[in-house]
Amino acid sequence: MHSLPEFNLPVKYLKGVGPARSEHLKKLDIETIGDILYTFPRRYEDRRSLTPLRALVDGETSSVIARIVSISSRKTRRKGLSITEAVITDGESIALVIWFNRKGLERIFLSGQDVAFYGKIEKKYGKPQLTNPDFEIIENDDQISEFNRIVPVYPTTYGIYQKWLRKFISANIKLFLEKVKEFLPPEVISINNLMPLRDAIMQMHYPSDRDAWKKARKRLVFDEFFVLQAGLAMRRSAGEKTEDKAPVFSSSNISFIQAAREMFSFPLTAAQERVLVEISGDMGQDIPMNRLLQGDVGSGKTVIAVLSMLLAVKNGYQSAFMAPTEILAQQHFQKLSRYFEGHNVTLAFLTGSMNGQERKNSLQKIENGRADIVIGTHALFQEKVRYARLGLVVIDEQHRFGVIQRGALRKKGQNPHVLVMTATPIPRTLTLSVYGDLSVSVMDEMPPGRKNITTKWVRPSRIEDLKDFLRDQVKKGRQIYWVCPLIEESETIQAVSLSERYEKLKVSLGDVRVAFLHGQVAPDEKDLTMFDFEKGRIDILVSTTVIEVGVDVPNATVMVIEDANRFGLSQLHQLRGRVGRGSFKSYCFLLAEPSSIESKQRIRTMCSTENGFKIADADLRLRGPGEVCGIRQHGVTDFRVADLVKDREMLLLAREQAFRIVGNDNQLTGLPLLREEVLRRVGKVLDLVKTG
Ligand code: ADP
Ligand code: MG
Repeated sequence: MHSLPEFNLPVKYLKGVGPARSEHLKKLDIETIGDILYTFPRRYEDRRSLTPLRALVDGETSSVIARIVSISSRKTRRKGLSITEAVITDGESIALVIWFNRKGLERIFLSGQDVAFYGKIEKKYGKPQLTNPDFEIIENDDQISEFNRIVPVYPTTYGIYQKWLRKFISANIKLFLEKVKEFLPPEVISINNLMPLRDAIMQMHYPSDRDAWKKARKRLVFDEFFVLQAGLAMRRSAGEKTEDKAPVFSSSNISFIQAAREMFSFPLTAAQERVLVEISGDMGQDIPMNRLLQGDVGSGKTVIAVLSMLLAVKNGYQSAFMAPTEILAQQHFQKLSRYFEGHNVTLAFLTGSMNGQERKNSLQKIENGRADIVIGTHALFQEKVRYARLGLVVIDEQHRFGVIQRGALRKKGQNPHVLVMTATPIPRTLTLSVYGDLSVSVMDEMPPGRKNITTKWVRPSRIEDLKDFLRDQVKKGRQIYWVCPLIEESETIQAVSLSERYEKLKVSLGDVRVAFLHGQVAPDEKDLTMFDFEKGRIDILVSTTVIEVGVDVPNATVMVIEDANRFGLSQLHQLRGRVGRGSFKSYCFLLAEPSSIESKQRIRTMCSTENGFKIADADLRLRGPGEVCGIRQHGVTDFRVADLVKDREMLLLAREQAFRIVGNDNQLTGLPLLREEVLRRVGKVLDLVKTG
């Protein structure tokens, strides 16, 4: 940490830490000396006000300092139990201190010694008594006392006790704090009125009062955001400052509005038009586009992808359109084949399961440039695939892939524009953290005529009423999804609970056509079932979340989600987005008996709004960044102090300043301490290290 090698020193080399203890410390994320300084209290105990012995109150927790008058240990009649008893005085009155099974204490305390105690008071026969209190012998060295101050309470784990950890951390703060270097530029400190770093670390562990703690926390939150944003800014500029230029696409000979009129049966929404201006603006420059398009399910992202690819084609370049699953890739291929009919555009298809001649044909068309648009899965970017002139990559449902490895493409001599699309609305603060180096477009408007979906919470006891409703919908010719959760992440159990539900529905619904789909069904079988469902030959499809993304059957009007409390909000939202895609009134039933307040709140949120961004915000508040939207970006949002909900203002401030500073000096060569801190903290998660 802070550019000094000793901060990266593993704790096992420290006095009093052997291999066993260092293993325990690892569970607390304490692996280096730097970690010790940055392991902050979970809470604090205010032991500032000392109480005179005469003022001790029964039942209260108090701090006292008193002198040992006498101390002795004795066995009790109960086997194995010993009692150590001390009489203490503050010169005015006396009190009793009792410990159970702490034989040997009488040798630690000498009469006449001053000791601080902290614990719960009981009044016995009118005399105050402390049982098993925390204590500290008062010696006049300069150790950081645990008494007469606000005392840190750290997270602990098996083998690591609070008292030991407190001592351990305070001893190391004493040894190493003065070596901590201020890495923020002085102007940043003064603009934001930040506490100096050493003071902040000290105050975070041992706050002198609430205000000081607040200032310390502010400083450390700012650091975390600033360092991450500086890293993101560096990554972005590394992507832009490459020698391989991206192709420049002129949009002067294409009107998106007219193209849309020809290809689709509807005009573009204002949001779609705006986003197309942003995208074509990016693609009109030789800096490769790196843009994230966020739009709720059904907001019309595919239309954007199609028109962007058309722009590439008109400029003589190929596009690759990558979907997360084979089913989706196929759907896209069919849809796009329709859209591009009569436009003199050649499509190709490529997935991992393709073999033989079919595969060879596709590879050939891609390599000799006959294919203008290639649709497929991640197979599109395998080693064997060579593009003649790749100009644009569109990635659908981004969060399933992680960030695209641009470097691999560049090695193949291609530096295309990249558009990633996600149907998962992500709260802005999270977008700025996880995708902070991307440009972001948001489609916040639904195409007209969308009917809203009625969402209801159904208790399992009312399942018969639900079935009646489903029968009625099937009679009207509509179709139904019934989703079962993944239990314990075990595919086997999942399949069992699902097939149980399938059997039950089949039996109780009589001649209704029921089918099922889950992760273990063979791919061919899966496709066949999906195909039958699309063609209306299945009334109820019982499935796992394999249908979560992209599946588009306008005749499906009911989504039943079993054990809905087991799903995250964003996932529920995705699932609900499978219905309401046609002209029929649609419904979502959340079948659940939630036990915790939090899961009840989640269900209520779902019933009260259809706005994906509102739902994502609620998800972030209820579950924290790690769980939202399935984003587990290996540590990008693992802040020690910062909170993306509480500290959003600070994030915006830090981002603006970090991008400005990196904008002027994109390798931070003029700020070596900052540069080192950025590389140390986020170099790995942001893949910056090789650039540094
Ligand atoms: P997404 O990929 O964002 O979930 P799609 O692109 O699949 O959304 O669009 C959802 C539905 O809305 C499709 O049936 C599509 O044809 C339709 N659609 C898209 N844009 C418009 C528009 N501007 N006006 C009317 N319907 C639209
Ligand atoms: Mg889509």
